[in-house]
Formats: sequence, structure tokens, C-alpha cells
Amino acid sequence: MDSTLKVLAILKNSKNKFVSGENIAKELKVSRVAVYKIIKKLIQEGYKIEKHKKLGYKLIGSPFSPEDLLKKTKFLKEVVFLKKTTSTMELAKDILAKNPYSEQVLIIAEEQTSGKGRIERKWFSPKGGLYFSLIVKPNVLPYEVFMLNYVFSLSVAETIKDLYNVRVFTKWPNDVVDAYHRKICGILLEIDSEIDKVNYCIVGVGINVNINSKFFSKHKLKAISLSQIVGKNLDMTEFTVELFKRIEKNYKLFEEKKFDILTSRWVSHSSTIGRTIKVQTFTQTIKGTAVGISSKTGALIIKTPYGLKEVLSGDCIHLR
Ligand code: ATP
Repeated sequence: MDSTLKVLAILKNSKNKFVSGENIAKELKVSRVAVYKIIKKLIQEGYKIEKHKKLGYKLIGSPFSPEDLLKKTKFLKEVVFLKKTTSTMELAKDILAKNPYSEQVLIIAEEQTSGKGRIERKWFSPKGGLYFSLIVKPNVLPYEVFMLNYVFSLSVAETIKDLYNVRVFTKWPNDVVDAYHRKICGILLEIDSEIDKVNYCIVGVGINVNINSKFFSKHKLKAISLSQIVGKNLDMTEFTVELFKRIEKNYKLFEEKKFDILTSRWVSHSSTIGRTIKVQTFTQTIKGTAVGISSKTGALIIKTPYGLKEVLSGDCIHLR
């Protein structure tokens, strides 16, 4: 094993604890200067290593590895990884234009210069976030594609609970928020279909993983980063791999049309159900209590003074 890999192994084995430069040098039988040079190289490769004058070094994050993602999930057929791009949604469309047979292809970027939100809204995408678009061709009816909002937001909430034991909430239709309604993740669906057949769907996801809170206040966003909730910088590869393992499982439920399981699990994480809300659609404003999600269509069911109403999309404001 070469010295860089040896140092990496020592840091990884020490599991979130500092290891002194002296101990690493002893183990490798090299000088402390040599250890310092290796650490510098690792940082240049994208490893996040905390340095402490007395305690030494602690590994706090690894660079993103597309190979790891492909190895650890069966679901993805190809991963396109970019340091910086305009928008992974645009790139996904370019890929489909070049090869219409592209399927289960993931486009992932460390930074986007024109990240997209719903209805031409902007998704701020500085370094430290996870931004991806996934091309899928599910064998479901076009209106059922809406369920993908639940597949992805549920997967994000479940991954966060599993990895960091932190409770976050799914907010209808497509967000994941913290207990104070600050947005952690947004989801965007673009679909191309005929009356009864889905040609393709691109699922865009933006997650605030390791973004400094100053960024959100500067841009006046009601947002929060996972790192702030958990209280430390998070390992992007670990998070991404675990997230895709979840997505793989939940996507299977979706293709098997087990919508009742998906929607009831989504409801168990939801901050919308049970609340007094106001939903603004293109044509109307509906006010009432959110009482559930239709497991047939994915519509939000709202109890109003005029009876139960179902809405498939719109801006949802939690009133109480
Ligand atoms: P909203 O929650 O504002 O109603 P939306 O859910 O309808 O938005 P999305 O596509 O989910 O639409 O998100 C776009 C909106 O999210 C932007 O208009 C902006 O207010 C906010 N936003 C943009 N970038 C971020 C980010 N990195 N983190 C959190 N919120 C963001």
C-alpha cells in the first residue's frame, strides 16, 4: 500500500478522533514532514482534514466518488460527475437529446451556476450542496409520476434519520424542511409523456448538506444546511451512497405501484398533514386542514367548509 493510502486508512480507522502526526510517522516509519506533505496532498484531493496543533489530524469528509456510488447501488447505470455546471437538469436534457435511450443515468454536480427550482424559480447551488438530476423511465401512467415527489422527499428524510438520528419533515408537495420550516431540500420533476405512456422523467434534487448559514442569510433564504442541524460537516460520499440505497428501495415500491406504502410513510414524516394550510394553485386558493394524501393520485386532500378538496400542485403555506 502506498503511503498516502496508509495515512488515509489510519485516519479512517480512528473514527472521528484526532491522530497525532507523530503516531502516523511512527507507524509509517517516515518523518513528520513526510506526513505533513501527505496530509497536504489529501486535502488537495478533496479530503476534509481538521488540523490541531497538539492533537494532530482528524478526517471529517471525503471527496465525492462516483465509482463508490456505482459500486454500492444496483439502480444506477451511469454517473456523470461534474465539479461545476450550469444546471444538472439542462445537462440531463442534453444527454437525452444525444441518446434517447439513456435511462437511470445520474448527473451530479458540486456546484451549479443556474440551478433550477419549480416554475422558473432559482435554486441557489453553492459548493457544499448535493445537486443531481436523475433520468428515469418508469412504467407507470403519466399522472402517477407525481408520486416521485414522495419517493425522493421520503428518501431524503429517511436517510437523514438513519445516518444522523435527526428528525426532518416532508413538506407538501416537494420539500424537506426542519422543525422551523427552513428548507433543506427541494425537488423538481420534469416529465415528457404521451396520453398513456411516460417517455422519460427527470428528477432534480438539491440538498443543503455542508453550506454555511451565512450564505442563506445573505440571500434571504428560509433555509438551513444539514451540517448545521447535525452540528458537524458531513461526509458527502457517505450521504450520497446511503441516499441512493434508499432511493433504490423506494423507487422499487413506486414501480410496483405500492403507492399506499409510500404515501403513508411520507405522511409519517410530514409537517403538512394535520395543519391549517393555504394552497395557491394556478386557478384558485384553497384554505383548510390538510388531512391526507390520495394513494391513487398523490393529491393532497384538504378539508374545507365546502367539503373535501384534492389538489395536485400548488404553493402550500402552513398557517397554523
Ligand atoms: P417555496 O418553498 O419558496 O414555495 P417551491 O417549493 O415552490 O418554493 P422549489 O423549486 O422547491 O419551489 O424551490 C425554489 C425556491 O426555494 C426559491 O424560490 C427560493 O425561495 C428557495 N431556494 C432556492 N435555493 C435554495 C436553497 N439552496 N435552499 C433552500 N431554499 C432555496
